Formats: sequence, structure tokens, C-alpha cells
Amino acid sequence: MIDFKTAKNIILEKTTLLNSKTLGIKKLNGRILAQNIRASFPMPRFDNSAMDGFAVRSEDTLGAKKNSPVTLKLVGSVAAGDSGNISIGEGECALCMTGAPIPKGADSVVMVEDTDGYGSKTKVKIFNESFPLKHIRKKGEEIQDNELLIKARSKISPSEIGTIAAYGIKKARVFRKARVSLFATGDELISPGKPIVPGKIYNSNSFVFSELSLRAGAKIVRDEIIKDRPNSLRRFLSNALKESDIVITSGGVSMGNHDYVRSIFMELGVDEHFWKVAQKPGKPIFFGSKGETLIFGLPGNPVSSYIGFMELVWPSLEKMMGNSIGKKILGVLAKPFPREIDKTRFLFGKVWLEDGKVLCAPSIKVGSHMLSSSLNSNCILHSDPGPNDLQPGDLVKARILPWKLIQ
Ligand code: AMP
Ligand code: MG
Repeated sequence: MIDFKTAKNIILEKTTLLNSKTLGIKKLNGRILAQNIRASFPMPRFDNSAMDGFAVRSEDTLGAKKNSPVTLKLVGSVAAGDSGNISIGEGECALCMTGAPIPKGADSVVMVEDTDGYGSKTKVKIFNESFPLKHIRKKGEEIQDNELLIKARSKISPSEIGTIAAYGIKKARVFRKARVSLFATGDELISPGKPIVPGKIYNSNSFVFSELSLRAGAKIVRDEIIKDRPNSLRRFLSNALKESDIVITSGGVSMGNHDYVRSIFMELGVDEHFWKVAQKPGKPIFFGSKGETLIFGLPGNPVSSYIGFMELVWPSLEKMMGNSIGKKILGVLAKPFPREIDKTRFLFGKVWLEDGKVLCAPSIKVGSHMLSSSLNSNCILHSDPGPNDLQPGDLVKARILPWKLIQ
């Protein structure tokens, strides 16, 4: 048996980065960038107007007031999209709309609200003094040419997609999705929707695993229930090992006399890196590899397998797909938290903010079979081994479930 930290380090050490592929902009959301994105031009690309109004020479507007306006001669017009090849001279102005290039000779824009308006005319009354650069978005004031816009390893969200588009880029290189094979094993398992019979239970772990894998950014290549029979397991696993970056099993790795999974892994040439971890829940966790494929055998108990996935498989998926490894926060306990003398203890729980402090409390349901402890939880709380239970006021680590909010 090894401790939790060592187990996690072994997993991360064995996890290799997947290769990358180029995707069109519409497919980038949620992916991890495998390249830097640089600006191929400054932003703004040219001096342009921040307002709808009139481009002027600010010195011509000196002294302008509502009751003693300055009158300028209207000599042209530029709208957004125009090349802006016009110029103004002393005592002149030009219509200039938001986003339009600034005419030569002008140094500022007077917004239309500070004038007597558009109309079809040759003269414009200016009611307010302007000053150099007023309402002008200067070339390069936001971003310089060749500036690093988005670093490799960033997660692509609408902000990154918008930025990529704004620089005219229509594809980018991202890490490919991990291919995940899932299987649940147990003669007791029945699929939701089928009638239940005495002694059987509905399979829930497969659904949790597949949802977690997708949320981590992976894709599912196989997802099956396999009977506790060596032959069925052998057939499934030999295919899964060939087609997957990660194989994740639920059940069948404990000490039961039907727990064949581990021996079949070995038979198929999987190198075992560890089998048991000093943690509660989820002690019988198997981790091995064959070539670059990683194999996780998680226990069947629903809380053990859910927490085992989040604590050990999730970080591996993050690393494999180029993502940064999620960090835990420290919260102040509002309720006692059980500790184990020689095991890392995990429980679903709740983190909330109160008077600027991060408070947290474990679920009152502590059994590893009690999946409902994950309902109304937004985190997994984590205490290192130690002699006594933690008390209110003590600090405890919390992994926020990335799809939940702290409220
Ligand atoms: P095992 O790890 O196979 O010894 O299973 C431990 C416990 O988890 C047993 O009570 C199983 O019935 C239960 N279990 C195993 N697989 C699943 C599953 N896919 N969904 C829900 N419960 C399961
Ligand atoms: Mg079983």
C-alpha cells in the first residue's frame, strides 16, 4: 500500500502529453492551445473614431460653447469600412462615424451630441471644445504588432476565440482529446430503464465516469458493462488497451472472489504501478500502464469511484491534454471532519463564503456507498492522515468541483 501523494506523483509521472492537431475556430472552444498566438498587426490597426460625430482640428474648436459655437466647414465624410482617404484643413471638419479611420489633418472627434447635428449642409456648429486625441482610438494602444496574445496551454473560452478571430486567424493547434474506454463490471449491474430484480442494482458508476471524462475534455471510445467472467473481461480489455489513452474500470479490483480485473490486466501485459492506496474511501485502486496507455481500476462503491476519479484520474487527464493541474484551496471547517491515523480522508462537502472567509463542511453522509452525499456538495474535502479528527476552525483542503459554484 502506498500513500495518496506518492500514488498521485506516480500517475503524473507516467502521464505523457498527447500530440496536437489543428482545428478550425468553431471547434476550439474548451480545448487547450498547443501553440502561442501572436498579433500579426497592432490593435487598433489604424487610428479610428470612438464616437459618431465630426473629425476636427482641436485648435479650431477653442472657445466653443453652447451659446457661442464655433462654425466649421464640412468637407467630407468617412464611415466604418471606408479607406479614409480624405483630409481636412484649417476651419474644416468631416463626418466621422465610430470605427472610421481619422481623416488626415484631424486630431480629434467631436461627438454629434456636441454639435448642431448631421442634416444635409455645409456648415457644422461645434458646442464644445475638443483636445488632441479626444475620442480617437490610437493605432497600437491596445496591442503591439507581434505581441503575445494567448500563451500555449491556455484553455480556449469565448475570450480566446474572439481574440483569435479579431486577428483574422481561423484555425489553431490544440492538444487532442484523450480517448477513454470505460467499463463497469459486476453481475449485479442493470442498466437504468430495465426492470430491477432481487439482488441487482442499477449501474451508476458508468454514467458518472462518462460525464466526468467528457467534462475533463476527453472523448469516450468504449463504454460497456462487462460480466464478472474472465473471458468477457479479457475480450473487452484487449481491445480497449489498443484503442485508448486511458482505460478506466469500475469494480472488480477489490478482494472479492469475483474480482478478476487485476489478474486480467497482468495477463494482458499491463505493468502494475500500484494496487492499493492509503486513502478512504477507495483503498483498492489499481494503476498500471501498457505502452502509453494508462489503466485505472477504481473500486465499485459509488463514492469511492467518484472521488478516486476526481483525485487521481482527473489530474492525469488534465496533464495528458496539456491543461494545468487543478489546485485545491484551503477552507476553514465549520463542522468537525473525520481523520484517519494512516489514511488520507476524502468526503464530499460544501464550501461557501461568509464574512470574506472560505468556510466548509463535510456531508453528513460518510459511507462510501452513499452517492447522494455528492448531491448538494460543491467540493471534495481532503485531510492528510493524523491522530485526531479536525475541529471547527481547523483548515482543510478542498477541491472545488469545476462545474459547481461557490456561493
Ligand atoms: P466491487 O468493487 O466490485 O467489490 O463493488 C463494491 C460495491 O460497489 C458493491 O456494492 C457493488 O454492487 C457496487 N458497485 C459496483 N459497480 C457499480 C456500478 N457500476 N454502479 C453502482 N454500484 C456499483
Ligand atoms: Mg464486483
